[in-house]
Amino acid sequence: MTHPTTTESHLLGIYAQPDFVLARGEGCRVWDEDGKAYLDFTAGIAVNALGYGSFVVRRAVEEALSTGLVHTSNLFRTRPSAELADLLVEHSFPGRAFFCNSGAEANEAAFKFARRWAGATHGADKHEIVAFRGAFHGRLFGTLAATDRDAYQAPFRPLMPGVRFAEVGDTAGVEAMLETGTVAAVIVEAVQGEGGVRPTPLGFLADLRALCDAHDTLLVFDEIQCGLGRTGALFAWQHGSAVPDMMTLAKPLAGGLPMGAVVLTDAVADTLKPGDHGTTFGGGPLVSSVALAVLRTLSEPEFLTRVRSVGDHLELGLRSIAARHASASGVRGLGLMQGLILDGPVAPVVARARDLGLLVVSAGPDVVRLVPPLVVTVAEVDEGLALLSEALAAA
Ligand code: PLP
Repeated sequence: MTHPTTTESHLLGIYAQPDFVLARGEGCRVWDEDGKAYLDFTAGIAVNALGYGSFVVRRAVEEALSTGLVHTSNLFRTRPSAELADLLVEHSFPGRAFFCNSGAEANEAAFKFARRWAGATHGADKHEIVAFRGAFHGRLFGTLAATDRDAYQAPFRPLMPGVRFAEVGDTAGVEAMLETGTVAAVIVEAVQGEGGVRPTPLGFLADLRALCDAHDTLLVFDEIQCGLGRTGALFAWQHGSAVPDMMTLAKPLAGGLPMGAVVLTDAVADTLKPGDHGTTFGGGPLVSSVALAVLRTLSEPEFLTRVRSVGDHLELGLRSIAARHASASGVRGLGLMQGLILDGPVAPVVARARDLGLLVVSAGPDVVRLVPPLVVTVAEVDEGLALLSEALAAA
């Protein structure tokens, strides 16, 4: 069935979308306008951590709305953003938090903060950013330059200058770049998401920490997809020993409402003054209230333990699928951020899974990405695995 009201609307056609129209959701499931149910292992691209219709989110929204203050702008103080900053710092490292409205905006802010810090402490020559092959940091002009996808970059050149790419694992290569003295910051995902669900070795993150210390360069962890409980630690870098100078967050932070954040050390924060950066909407009372409730839930040790155990179950099931299907060659991931690596293109598998009632999303050309709501049950994981197996069998 086609839906003229949506397919023939005036929406800009920059998304390749299937025909059906989503109408409602509950838990890990969504329903389209025809009443067909889908088990959703995309969670709005790793956003809906507490599932659809979450009581935590709903109660926080209702309480925040009852104050009448949806938005005030940053001309004035409100309490929720201050409390959220305190809670984020309490759970990560000493410093400050800045709030914005999306992941790309958070990384853009981190790049500006890095330049401000480097300029103030070392001078204008120290302005470059080092990112990694396979990285995805967003699609705005600064972040697009640090997103290693030629198809995304090519139509929009010239990009922001000053971004250099290194290989994940190439400690010597990064060292050579930092030795020039011109690098303000190194940005890395502890688990690459869009780049194919690739955990960055924890030892390499520790190497980056040591190199950044040795060359007085900032280390930025992009936790936009892998952070906030997704891997079974509140932040994915907390599986290892390396602590960043800045961390960027977004996706699940405000329970599906748009919000991004940068947490930065006091050393970086001290170089920023009023007027250096800003946003009209960032950190408003409604989104911050919801983020507080979401963060309190995601940071509960029992919640994270459960993510690890259900994530292990998902990973084991995927390994069994990879062993049984010739078209699948392996599994990568951490916690409830898993990728099934295929020998061929992923798009037909995603489409078949959808027809069978399972929503999954690709990560690169040949990886099926599974990022269900973090409240997914073992029974739902088993149901999803069975549907995925069926989709592969039909290949
Ligand atoms: N960084 C990472 C690691 C991401 O996965 C994404 C989005 O997928 C972004 C940044 C950009 O976030 P947004 O789409 O909210 O701008």
